[in-house]
Amino acid sequence: MTMTISQNLADIVARIDAARKAAIKPAPVTSLVAVSKTVDEAGIREALAAGQRLFGENRVQEAQGKFPTLKSEHPDLELHLIGPLQTNKVKEAATLFDVIQTLDRAKLADALAAERQKSGRCPRLFLQVNTGEEPQKTGVLPREAAGLIAYARKLELPLEGLMCIPPAEDDAAPHFAFLAKLARDHGLANLSMGMSGDFEMAVKFGATHVRVGTAIFGVRQPI
Ligand SMILES: *Cc1c(COP(=O)(O)O)cnc(C)c1O
Repeated sequence: MTMTISQNLADIVARIDAARKAAIKPAPVTSLVAVSKTVDEAGIREALAAGQRLFGENRVQEAQGKFPTLKSEHPDLELHLIGPLQTNKVKEAATLFDVIQTLDRAKLADALAAERQKSGRCPRLFLQVNTGEEPQKTGVLPREAAGLIAYARKLELPLEGLMCIPPAEDDAAPHFAFLAKLARDHGLANLSMGMSGDFEMAVKFGATHVRVGTAIFGVRQPI
């Protein structure tokens, strides 16, 4: 039996709810970020029709092709960038995204501060932490996170939380626990963690945002 996007959304929301009820200390709110990378406009519209308003995209250019119209039709649509950001795309990103979850280096913090100076625009920010210290992955290394948090605060950037993508082959639990502690230690309220395969576990560790793609929209076509 194939499920529709709307049925999948209802199922995920119910599972988040159940995980929150089972958790000892869930976050005050856990928001579902529907990851719509590679999903066409019709698919996103189906999610919108089902009431979903929070979306995540990996690439600035792909999001620019889909979201300006949808955002003008739905002023309450909130868009998060969850993929790496090049400094030469900061201006476009600051125009389109409400939240950038992938701040991971001082140079990018500088570029965001400069853009805010110029245009007055600065999305809310999450710091991406490379909790698995994987060389091929973006994200600040755990030992450098405190320095980058301090630097973002010195620039008075709107830093609101932390985000991580644990290594695919690892048990995600210790990564989620580590990220939660880091956020607590630094007084950051938001925690973006958990994807289709492990969002219930992330909820257990206090996720405020889970990022779910495949379980809503189906398996992505390779691009
Ligand atoms: C693609 C992606 C997701 C969603 O992954 P699924 O396994 O399809 O739920 C979440 N976070 C990031 C950063 C992604 O790139």
